[in-house]
Amino acid sequence: MRGAAPRETAPLLAAAALALSLVVVLLAGCGSAATTGGPGAEPSGGPAATGAATEAPSAQPTAEPSPARTPMTPRPTPTGTAPSPTPSGASAPGTGTTGGAGKGASGASPGATTVVFVDVGQGDATVIRSGSWTGLIDGGPAGAEPAIEAALAKLGVRRLSAVVVSHVHADHTGGLTRLVGEWRPRKAYVAGAPTAALAGALRGAGTAVVQVRRGDGLKFGAARAEVLSPAGLSGDPNSDSVVLRLDAAGRSFLFTGDCTGPNEAAVGRICARGPPIDVIKVAHHGSRYSTSSAFLAETRPGVAVICVGPNSYGHPTPATVGRLLAAGSRVYTTWKNGGVTFTVSAAGAMSVSFGRSSQPVKKATAAGGSAESGGGAAAGTGAAAASSGASGGAIVYVTKTGECYHAGGCRYLSGSRIPIALKDARGAYRPCSVCDPPI
Ligand SMILES: [Zn+2]
Ligand SMILES: [Zn+2]
Repeated sequence: MRGAAPRETAPLLAAAALALSLVVVLLAGCGSAATTGGPGAEPSGGPAATGAATEAPSAQPTAEPSPARTPMTPRPTPTGTAPSPTPSGASAPGTGTTGGAGKGASGASPGATTVVFVDVGQGDATVIRSGSWTGLIDGGPAGAEPAIEAALAKLGVRRLSAVVVSHVHADHTGGLTRLVGEWRPRKAYVAGAPTAALAGALRGAGTAVVQVRRGDGLKFGAARAEVLSPAGLSGDPNSDSVVLRLDAAGRSFLFTGDCTGPNEAAVGRICARGPPIDVIKVAHHGSRYSTSSAFLAETRPGVAVICVGPNSYGHPTPATVGRLLAAGSRVYTTWKNGGVTFTVSAAGAMSVSFGRSSQPVKKATAAGGSAESGGGAAAGTGAAAASSGASGGAIVYVTKTGECYHAGGCRYLSGSRIPIALKDARGAYRPCSVCDPPI
């Protein structure tokens, strides 16, 4: 939408004393010591080297993702703005019948784009697959690697084309360091300096680190991404989150990191000039300090995904969930729904599938399906989804010594994390009362 923004040689982030509260979920009962998310959030290290490697798409075939699909309902357009165009010959976006969308429904189509919000508990990790190009936005907290790798494997990915580091907080980068070593992304898009550990891993993987700023355009396979924020660096990692709008076959996704404050407002103003956002990754796990009503009026998201898991911050906050519902958005959380996968065909038809429940959040309460709020309902739908066998969500996790089985992002898995088929777990373990796994 505008030329390349100036690369501001930002002052190094003054080691902002980020009072990242340790997330300690010390609820007794699962026989496995809970540990913290290990915030290693302090920005450190020198400025990232800027690389300029050219795209070198990998040649491996694209495997078809196989989760059961739920056709999208027509997205709400609260402000009456025209929806994105529907190319002729395509089923109307959002209204295609399951399995009946023809060639457009295949994730293997060269023009198709798949976006997976991985269930990593309290944190963010989003896989984007477009043709043979695969990107990962953030890598979840430490311990999230198996869930992310499972999502990559399911898509037939062998190597990452790029990673986007939205910002340096541990719930976004804790799992990324090891993933970089193993998946050797060709590029890393960052704003500001990565953590020292991540910078080292990127160097070791031969990854070209590219500083991005507002106005930059990126090629993500057949899709295009535009950097909407930051324009410069303030020193506050959340505010300085890399915010991307991805456009794929007329569908738009807005990835917000933990953006807040003036930068969120700036993103809203940019989005107000375009069509409604189809899918928004809600900023900062549903924090009350992001996702303002004004921002929602400008972005008009049809579907909102909150990446969140058990936490001590009260995420997602009822205030934010209420604002999303009031804006007419359909709200899902990785806590309640499990991983959420969107597939956009080359013709622009979009479908969505879930690792657990397919039920959207309906009330402005703590929306995670936590033990104290609707966990029973979430578990019930989860069981239905798992027993179908088609969602691929019937894997749960146990620990070396625990008596419970857990959903992928549960804090109890920080020590050991052993995948097990749900059907095998049922007899030998009991479901964790904290993370609400399928039963
Ligand atoms: Zn953050
Ligand atoms: Zn975060």
